[in-house]
Amino acid sequence: MSWQRRLEQADKQYIWHPFTQMRNYQEMDPVIIERGEGSYLIDIYGRRYLDGVSSLWVIVHGHRREEIDRAIVEQVGRISHSTLLGLSNPPAIELAKQLVEITPAGLERVFYSDNGSTGCEVALKMAFQYWHLRGEDRKTRFISFTNAYHGDTLGAASVGGIDLFHEAYRPLLFPVLQADAPYCYRCPLGLNWPACGMTCLGRLERILKDHHQEVAALIIEPLVQGAAGMITQPLGFLPAVRELCTRYGVLMIADEVAVGFGRTGTMFACDHEGVKPDVMVLAKGITGGYLPLAATLATEEVYGAFLGEYHEFKTFFHGHTYTGNPLACAAALANLDVFARDETIERLAPKIDLLSRRLEQFKDIAAVGDVRQQGFMTGVELVADRKTKVPFPPQEKVGIGVMLEARTRGVIIRPLGDIIVIMPPLSITEGELEELLGVIHQSIQTVTGGTAR
Ligand SMILES: *Cc1c(COP(=O)(O)O)cnc(C)c1O
Repeated sequence: MSWQRRLEQADKQYIWHPFTQMRNYQEMDPVIIERGEGSYLIDIYGRRYLDGVSSLWVIVHGHRREEIDRAIVEQVGRISHSTLLGLSNPPAIELAKQLVEITPAGLERVFYSDNGSTGCEVALKMAFQYWHLRGEDRKTRFISFTNAYHGDTLGAASVGGIDLFHEAYRPLLFPVLQADAPYCYRCPLGLNWPACGMTCLGRLERILKDHHQEVAALIIEPLVQGAAGMITQPLGFLPAVRELCTRYGVLMIADEVAVGFGRTGTMFACDHEGVKPDVMVLAKGITGGYLPLAATLATEEVYGAFLGEYHEFKTFFHGHTYTGNPLACAAALANLDVFARDETIERLAPKIDLLSRRLEQFKDIAAVGDVRQQGFMTGVELVADRKTKVPFPPQEKVGIGVMLEARTRGVIIRPLGDIIVIMPPLSITEGELEELLGVIHQSIQTVTGGTAR
């Protein structure tokens, strides 16, 4: 047996893959990625694939980016881990300083953890304890949105709103106040934007009016709800939410885990409309997609509430073993260096335009119900009937079909149900982007048949 076959067998024998129906997986030929190079993934047979979802939304400047590789190796030559519990390390310090400088004004303190879920857990616990420390013991609840995704740990899942992911665990989760997120293609209120004047905001205000005395914080994915299917928010929604939080004395937590680090066309999604959250969560792109790291940033106001004498125990009793890991922080610093050196954000603008233009052509396919784009985040929603917006039966596994078709044409994507996600590294070239979109377009057409009438 070839070494490749042995690996494939061992993969199926030993690994339980995340978010994967393992019975399906057993029936498929696994793709085992051995190497990466720029926008490409290379498997154990040497086959090359365009990385159409940035290895689950994390790769920023491509794979094997020399500066980031080197920063990690150099850090290994010094030390790979020491604790941040009572000690410190240079990369963690320098990164905290730079994050405070580049994030919206007012965010002054950086609390590290390992991934987006823990970053959100930190934000929730911080907001909860903040009010307790201020003597406002009634403010214990959270407002979150329909279709929200903030991670898979139990606290993060509690503020989640995707039934498919969260409903089974509901008995384990704490109850939240759920506000309507805009989903203009399938408006739950049956309205049309912009004629609706964002009626959903009025419903959020109702919740705040009735409950603000019990509410510690509101948590939101700014501009785009990623995991729900790249659901974009109309302009004006986020600043209005900010204004309501301020007016009703509720902390605003911006979960920029997916949208941060250039994804939406600005460094942070909050930058588009000058929104300043009280707490911000960063992960995914923070290390350029190299290592697990998260940062929860807070205002001086929030941080200050935790200050006191040792015996008062106002301490934030939270922390993970690998908090502030020097290798991950070194990668994150190199990631920011490359942002500056390459002028990544500036050079993204024409690629975003190209993406918009090419996406127009997707509407030629009958099964394409909606095309949503915010910067370099795209969701193409496939439906059985464009007029009624009726989805395909899940048995048809249309999204998976498109994914497998694209794979045979040298493109890796990972759909969310029947929503095709297109989210390449920000460093992708225009030529590669054309290729990527061409393959995905063809794959959707092949799997769903038919052009629009
Ligand atoms: C991915 C994601 C998370 C969870 O991050 P993990 O690193 O997978 O735990 C949280 N919030 C948002 C908006 C995300 O997209």
